[in-house]
Amino acid sequence: MSNNIKFFKAKYIVVWEEGSHRILENGYLAVEGKKIAGYRNHLPEGARCEDLGNAAIIPGFVNLHTHPSEVFSIKSYIEDCGNPNFFESTLMDYPFPALGKRGAELQTQLNLVELVKSGCTTSLIYGGPYSRLEAETAGHMGLRAYVGAGIRAGDRMEADSVWHSPDGHSVTYDFDEESGFQRIREAEELARDYDGTFDGRVHIMMGPTQSMTCTPAMLKETRKAADKLGVGITIHVAEDLAEFEGCVRLYGKTPVELLYDTGLLGEDVVLAHCVFVSGHSQVFIRSNKDLKLLGSTKSNVAHSPTPFIRVGTNLESFGKYADAGVNVGMGTDTFPSDMVQEMRLAAFMAKSQERTTYKTRAQDIFNAATINGAKALGRQDLGRLCKGAMADFSIVDLRTIEMTPSRDVVKSLIYSGTRHSISQVYVGGKQVVEDGKVCGLDEKSLCEELQAIGEEAWKKLKTQDGKTMDAFYPMSFPRI
Ligand SMILES: [Zn+2]
Repeated sequence: MSNNIKFFKAKYIVVWEEGSHRILENGYLAVEGKKIAGYRNHLPEGARCEDLGNAAIIPGFVNLHTHPSEVFSIKSYIEDCGNPNFFESTLMDYPFPALGKRGAELQTQLNLVELVKSGCTTSLIYGGPYSRLEAETAGHMGLRAYVGAGIRAGDRMEADSVWHSPDGHSVTYDFDEESGFQRIREAEELARDYDGTFDGRVHIMMGPTQSMTCTPAMLKETRKAADKLGVGITIHVAEDLAEFEGCVRLYGKTPVELLYDTGLLGEDVVLAHCVFVSGHSQVFIRSNKDLKLLGSTKSNVAHSPTPFIRVGTNLESFGKYADAGVNVGMGTDTFPSDMVQEMRLAAFMAKSQERTTYKTRAQDIFNAATINGAKALGRQDLGRLCKGAMADFSIVDLRTIEMTPSRDVVKSLIYSGTRHSISQVYVGGKQVVEDGKVCGLDEKSLCEELQAIGEEAWKKLKTQDGKTMDAFYPMSFPRI
């Protein structure tokens, strides 16, 4: 027995054996350096061991869609509003506050704190203008991250929108393709600078922003660049009804067909959302061709229920996508970035959609947040606890009201737990969360600074026609 091995004893350990998660009761998880060395029923003589008591060890979650540098900026703006002419979307013509570079730094830190506290040891960050900052911050915090290098037919800082609505009911597209190709070159540079850094914890993916903020030529070039560098691709697609309609009007194709025809779909692609596919009850093309294309290309979907339920719609449905051969993983996307809540919403939403409790169960959602996410990133060593896998795991405190009594830790966490049920998190064998707090960070002072930045930015925000923000985005109750 090597002295470098440390054992963790827990009431339940979710281990990986013969192609499935399994529950080891009153067992021991062995960690050696940054990897799992195995698991046992008995402690070898003389071995080092930490007894976690009434706790469960679960694999770290692999989160397939996040926006750390900007996730909080739309809080209290995006909810309960939207343009009825664009299917109640806020995407086309709603102004949002810009919180500047310091705002991006604070949001990145706070969001990564939020993510890891909910058990996400790996996060796919959709990087926009601040992808270098996000890669650096995740790396320094000891997290595992895949950062999408933003690509769009416009400026790097995303100051100007690619789509415009001059009148609140029509949409025009202003593709600056030359800038778009420059963004691809910058994405390649980011990959060369950061892919595999921070002891192999930080990776880069090509990140075209949306199907309708890139041209077909740019999507083809992105595929070439990704293949050349051996990195994956992530893109927002089929996330908005106006986007679906716009794509059909402009190209005569659904957003999924556009990606298929430009060669973008494949096993190495993570499609954020992919909700409005043909056959969805709210779109006007009824065939199930899109799901067939996604399944036949073995594409991966990042499922983030919150932003869709929040506007009264959802993916139709988790079980149907899985039946079509689509690898569905979980993402948190918006606020709150809480994987435990997101898993519960995904389960409830699927059951509501499928009109049965049997088709999508806790194990399907747990698999989505672990092994499906790992598969989407081409990783056999994440999302599972077995010999040779990365030592990325969380410890669930079973002594809390929401987890008591705990017979089936997976069901209890998904149907009753909260992110506060997770007390400790390890990435690559190193502890990053202790007693529910990220080591070495003062969350409260970061929150106070972000509040002050928000208050300044809200004062400056104006609509095109001079409306006040309170008129455009009504408060829940009037100010007095
Ligand atoms: Zn997103």
